[in-house]
Amino acid sequence: MIHPSLTVRFVAGISLIGVVVFATACGESDTPAPAAEAAREAPAPAASIGLIDDARIENAESEPGNWLTYGRDSNEQRFSPLEQVNRESVSRLGLAWMKDLGSNFAQEATPIVVDGTMFFTTAWSIVYAVDAVTGETKWRYDPEVPKETTARRACCGPVNRGAAVYKGRVYVGSLDGRLIALNASTGEKVWETDTLIDRERPYTITGAPRAARGKIYIGNGGAEFGVRGYVTAYDAETGAQVWRFFTVPGDPALGFESPAMEMAAKTWKGGEWWKIGGGGTTWNSIVYDADFNNLYLGVGNGAPWIRAIRSPGGGDNLFLASIVAVDADTGEYKWHYQTTPGDNWDYTAVQDMMLAEMEVDGVQTKVLMQAPKNGFFYVLDRADGKLLRANQYVGITWASHVDMETGRPVENPEMDFQEETKWILPGPLGGHNWQAMSFDASTRTVYFPAQEWPGLYTVADEFKNTGFLKREPKGVNLGTELARVGQLVLENEADAPDPKGYLKAFDPLTGEEKWAVEHEHYWNGGVLATQGGVVFQGDAMGNFSAYDAATGATLWQFQTYTSILGPPITFEIDGTQYVSIMTGTGGGNHFDGYFNDSATIKYGNYGRMLVFALDAKAEIPVPAVLDRQIPERAEMAATPAQIDQGDRLFHSWCAPCHGINVASTGVYPDLRLMAEATHQSFQQIVIDGVRAKLGMASFADALTADEAELIHAYIVNRANLDRAAALEEATAEAAGG
Ligand code: CA
Repeated sequence: MIHPSLTVRFVAGISLIGVVVFATACGESDTPAPAAEAAREAPAPAASIGLIDDARIENAESEPGNWLTYGRDSNEQRFSPLEQVNRESVSRLGLAWMKDLGSNFAQEATPIVVDGTMFFTTAWSIVYAVDAVTGETKWRYDPEVPKETTARRACCGPVNRGAAVYKGRVYVGSLDGRLIALNASTGEKVWETDTLIDRERPYTITGAPRAARGKIYIGNGGAEFGVRGYVTAYDAETGAQVWRFFTVPGDPALGFESPAMEMAAKTWKGGEWWKIGGGGTTWNSIVYDADFNNLYLGVGNGAPWIRAIRSPGGGDNLFLASIVAVDADTGEYKWHYQTTPGDNWDYTAVQDMMLAEMEVDGVQTKVLMQAPKNGFFYVLDRADGKLLRANQYVGITWASHVDMETGRPVENPEMDFQEETKWILPGPLGGHNWQAMSFDASTRTVYFPAQEWPGLYTVADEFKNTGFLKREPKGVNLGTELARVGQLVLENEADAPDPKGYLKAFDPLTGEEKWAVEHEHYWNGGVLATQGGVVFQGDAMGNFSAYDAATGATLWQFQTYTSILGPPITFEIDGTQYVSIMTGTGGGNHFDGYFNDSATIKYGNYGRMLVFALDAKAEIPVPAVLDRQIPERAEMAATPAQIDQGDRLFHSWCAPCHGINVASTGVYPDLRLMAEATHQSFQQIVIDGVRAKLGMASFADALTADEAELIHAYIVNRANLDRAAALEEATAEAAGG
């Protein structure tokens, strides 16, 4: 075991799994997609369930027992009016049913519950419709994402955050970039359309589509690898494209798709950002606002991350790290607010956005709230995007404050990492990530998970030495020094701020922290608050917990034996209130194995749907604690220089999944623990792709057999060093040292 303080809290990337290969292209550029394939066939029978429409969504308060959209209601406040489970009764909460999903990847979905049926998605974009009372499966739809080509281009695992249910159909975005409409009653496909503008580029979809006004809205991810972000609206009925809004400009020499892109291009200076892609992917939050007929897009980070590479002449690089309002019917730009001008740190503004009305400086105002990665909690005026508040919500070092006159953050010059590697807060996981937050309007309190997790920021040696960074078409394109990140982490480990994780109760107007629960681990689950005075959250230690909304005191806890990221939801059927949570971690922490005590590291990563009710008594199986002892193995014949080369190759190609310095978080195999038979098959796995169907694609396009052998030698060397350190530690402990 690696020394517990010696970590591997990586860092250069939240997220990079690996790498891209995607070959079979048919990459037409931006022509509207033809109306979806199946739509031309005989009309499918109408569905009798999943009959959610705009009126129901906009009047969600009249049906508190259902959970109709991603954020429960049209404001996406995720606050439930249900109160059968409350401060007094919550101690009686027990497991009502449980569904094993046969997956050991992260489960991030928000279920939709309507009229007795629960619809939810799992890893690999699989959709379930189940009886919400019993868990019995009504249907299951698998879009058959091609794992062998797709796994390597999903930065943070083959995750999916949910489906939209609308007018008898279930809409899901598949990891490989399709938008699919299913009959809500049967799960049969009604239509499917390809949302990608270029299949050679490593786009993915992990976010939940949103439905409003007869249209389905969907974005994508891929900025770590190098893509250009956009959001597309499709006709819900036919799948025909209605509009597309690009979030960053393409090559100006080719002209601009819209006046907004012409405006944005003025903020990109020098360089050839379009070659890597520019980034700005909208991979999570999209919210429709009926008050203004706006669609709000939460826009992500730059590609590459490093602004000096992307835009060497400076500039804000619109619309990176911005909240953009467009007309929901036409996709025309209305306003934007950029949280992090000239993003340099992977500070996305894709985090969940909530709409509300509140008195601000004496005026009743329709506001939008977001806690993006950069550590400031924003309140904007939805009428025009005006900045109303920007209160710091967690410890940060990259900036001192937001100047309310200019609306811009004031960067901390001491944290400039252009020349020198620096630990910076927040790191690429952000002060808050996609994990859900919840807003109690009656007390003006937002409940959300936050973390202080440092990133070790560097600039790629190649760029420093040559002033240029060439695109790696098969891998990540961060512009950071990825190959040496394992060594840099080891060298700088002593200076790293300690990572911390919290559940916070926060006043978005005053910035007052009403209370905070400090968790053992930094990377925890989404949050649900209810009228019962209870705040629910799952954590990395496997606890699903209920906290007192007024004080943060723990009221109830249930051990699930798996780390949790997903959002709890609640619903009521026939007089019984239920609370659900999905277990299974991943996302950004899969490269960070220094924390050896999470539930997933201890027991495994069990993908499950768990549903609770008062006085329910079902039991969850108690798994055995995994054997984490590193087996002994002879070093391979390799010189120190070759092991160093293997180290660099490992960190360029393998570490994003398998962990910096080979310490996995338990989602992907910890290669230090490989069995002898796996060692014997190393070449077949890495080069021949014998495990491609499981998501471990061949790297023959990126690595030679000799290079794979160098990686293997490095892994064995690292494993033996860690084994020796663990034995030494055990001996010292036995001696009472
Ligand atoms: Ca990112």
